[in-house]
Parts: sequence; C-alpha cells; structure tokens
Amino acid sequence: MGEKRGLEEITKMKPMICERCGGVDFKDVDGYRICQYCNTNYRITPEDLPAKTSTIALQDDIRLLLQKCKDDPANARRYASLILDIDPSNSEVKKYLK
Ligand SMILES: [Zn+2]
Repeated sequence: MGEKRGLEEITKMKPMICERCGGVDFKDVDGYRICQYCNTNYRITPEDLPAKTSTIALQDDIRLLLQKCKDDPANARRYASLILDIDPSNSEVKKYLK
C-alpha cells in the first residue's frame, strides 16, 4: 500500500504549506502531493525550479566578481577562478586568467 515511508524519504522532501488550508501534512502519490487536510493536489515541484532562482542569484555574484576583477586587478585571477567555479563557460572572465 506504500503507507509507511522511511525516514530518509520524509526528510528529503521539501517542506511545503498548503495554499488552501495552511496544512503541512502531505502525502505523495504518483508525482502529486496531496494535502491530508483538504485533499488539494499539488504537482511536485521539479528540481529545476529552485535552481532557476539560484541561477539569477549566481548571475549577480558573477557580475559582482567581474567588477572586483576590474577594481582590483592584483587579485583578478582569484576572482576570476571564483567566477569559473560558478560558471565554467563564462568567456568574459578568461581574459583575467592570462
Ligand atoms: Zn490543505
């Protein structure tokens, strides 16, 4: 029946709150998360959704680090390698690595 879930399975699920009743008790069924209180179905958020928001934050980090490369050429290499850690395909940063 799949009613008993391992602790590992429960802890890796993201905490969420039911938009309709504020409940926090959900059951996962076939890719949907069902509120145990009001039975609202939520499609389980794909992993790439939070990744998108963090990509935006990373773009800000990259911009900041590129600015540091310009402002502080003595340490540009260090900043450049930080940028490459975030975005290995960043071409703008390559000139600071030479
Ligand atoms: Zn609910």
